[in-house]
Amino acid sequence: MAGLSAEKLAEVKERLLGRKRRLWLEVKDQLKSNIGDGYQEMLATARDEEDQATVSLMAETNLTLLGPKRQELEAIEEALTRLENGTYGLCEMCGQPIEPRRLEIMPETPLCRNCMSQREKLAKATAAR
Ligand SMILES: [Zn+2]
Repeated sequence: MAGLSAEKLAEVKERLLGRKRRLWLEVKDQLKSNIGDGYQEMLATARDEEDQATVSLMAETNLTLLGPKRQELEAIEEALTRLENGTYGLCEMCGQPIEPRRLEIMPETPLCRNCMSQREKLAKATAAR
């Protein structure tokens, strides 16, 4: 599995879950201070902060105010899914193993350094148009 040991993968999972919990708390706080009672109720009735349904609920409601945090949560969700199905550590675009150092810094990244810089160049080019 991309040259990562079971131990390493367990460690990565712990890190991702920890980060996810912290992000969730921040997101909930932000929601409480930014939006109305309806959402508060919705969040209160979600089984717990690990609840995947809540994540998709948020995606569907298009809460742009959560911006980067929501994106990061989604990236973490995807990384956890890749851990489950055994594709973690492989680049989403080129399929090559992602640099271990890079995973150390950004365990949720789906892209190797090359593909990420390509994507960033592309994004810049699109934005400049
Ligand atoms: Zn790549």
